[in-house]
Amino acid sequence: MTDILTKLAALTRKDTCQLLPCPSCSAKCDTLSAHGFGNYSVKCFNCELQTQQHQGQDAAIAAWNTRLLEKALIALVQEAAGEIERLQAALRAVHGRCTPEMELVVAQALNPTEAV
Ligand SMILES: [Zn+2]
Repeated sequence: MTDILTKLAALTRKDTCQLLPCPSCSAKCDTLSAHGFGNYSVKCFNCELQTQQHQGQDAAIAAWNTRLLEKALIALVQEAAGEIERLQAALRAVHGRCTPEMELVVAQALNPTEAV
């Protein structure tokens, strides 16, 4: 499960050197606009989706590169990972105290990829 979270984090990291494609139209967007007083925004020339103005280039790029859906998916995966860990802990707690038939079920649940 940690591997999945690591991969998700790598996919969604805030890369301050490169703008991700537009979340609306998938066009490659490389338009960082300066608005004075250190405020910047990123705008898609294809569909005109635009971030709000942010203080500093890095903040504007991070806002553009952070996707609400990705944040929601990461939260769901983290929640699922936590639930799996809680269930595995509960199974480990009863492991060794069940009937032989139930031990097979518990062992398979703890190691689903291994043949029992
Ligand atoms: Zn766009």
